[in-house]
Amino acid sequence: MHSGSTTTSDAKRSSTKKKFEPRTFTGCSKIEDYETRNKIGEGTFGEVSFAQHKKTEAKVALKRILMHSEKEGIPITALREIKILKSLNHPNIVPLLEMAIKKGDKSSRSRGSIFMVFPYMDYDLAGLLENPAVRFNQSQIKSYIKQLLEGTYYLHQHNILHRDMKGANILIDAQGNLKLADFGLARSFNPEDPNKAYTTLVVTRWYRPPELLLGATKYNAAIDMWGVGCVIGEIFKRRPILTGTSDIDQLEKIFELCGTPNKHNWPSVDQLTDWGKIQFKVYQRNVLRRFEQYDRLAIDLMDKLLALEPATRLTAGEALKHDYFYHGWRIAVPGTKEWVSDSA
Ligand code: ADP
Ligand code: MG
Repeated sequence: MHSGSTTTSDAKRSSTKKKFEPRTFTGCSKIEDYETRNKIGEGTFGEVSFAQHKKTEAKVALKRILMHSEKEGIPITALREIKILKSLNHPNIVPLLEMAIKKGDKSSRSRGSIFMVFPYMDYDLAGLLENPAVRFNQSQIKSYIKQLLEGTYYLHQHNILHRDMKGANILIDAQGNLKLADFGLARSFNPEDPNKAYTTLVVTRWYRPPELLLGATKYNAAIDMWGVGCVIGEIFKRRPILTGTSDIDQLEKIFELCGTPNKHNWPSVDQLTDWGKIQFKVYQRNVLRRFEQYDRLAIDLMDKLLALEPATRLTAGEALKHDYFYHGWRIAVPGTKEWVSDSA
């Protein structure tokens, strides 16, 4: 299976490279077409509710777009999220099915709303990991990590940075399919223009890479790969691995695990605006030792994703070629008998 699946997935990857295959997009329906049920998520930018399409009975998640004032129209951040989602088409990226509008009503003074409509996914990874009753076997873990990397690889091939990698933004259904969600902070980048500056105010702190914490405004897809590394560690440890209480504390925790930067492990670190402002204790890298009780190859992959220097961090494409996917435990295939019966 191993060498065979390399060829197929490589072939598949290179054939989809840089080629957008936009889904047809029917547009807008009315919120009355859906039966809205309970709230399932409260994010930073609005709430997400479970709903069912009245005619088709399709289960969906409705993500409300927060409107600050109707005069100003849909916020630019939401437009960006919609535009990016519409351009993506991959089994490991949550598809935007359509938009649904709720008309305002002057007499009852209720404001109108706009919703993004997604297929309903049973869980998010953060919730699953917090629940001690949920156990994953090694083949399932490998499948989740593979799917996460496939989704991220697709994004980066299409020059999109996710910028908010974390368990709460990784959705999983009861069949074991994983989809990357929440493109509220995502943006497109131009790989030919590495000097373009972006905001550093992205990525939830525990998943934020050291270059962002040290003030880098020129960053690239490697910022998402750090987050993937953190998520892999979290899947094994069953809790977030780097839980800083402030940006400085976050750096401290990163260095405690990954070693303190110096001119050997990160030659250009002194070019970052915030490097040198604080004197950090000198720590040695000890990722492999701190995670020695887990799957050695998985932890080797994580170790290479948690490289301090962004340029040496594995890319999604490189990560997918890691030995972890070709040795040891099989990759369970979601939705098949093997998925449920293959327990570790
Ligand atoms: P925010 O930008 O507010 O964080 P998200 O898109 O991350 O919005 O959604 C918030 C939460 O709602 C997610 O963490 C997840 O728990 C839940 N959620 C989002 N989309 C879906 C979906 N398609 N199916 C099921 N739950 C979802
Ligand atoms: Mg979110």
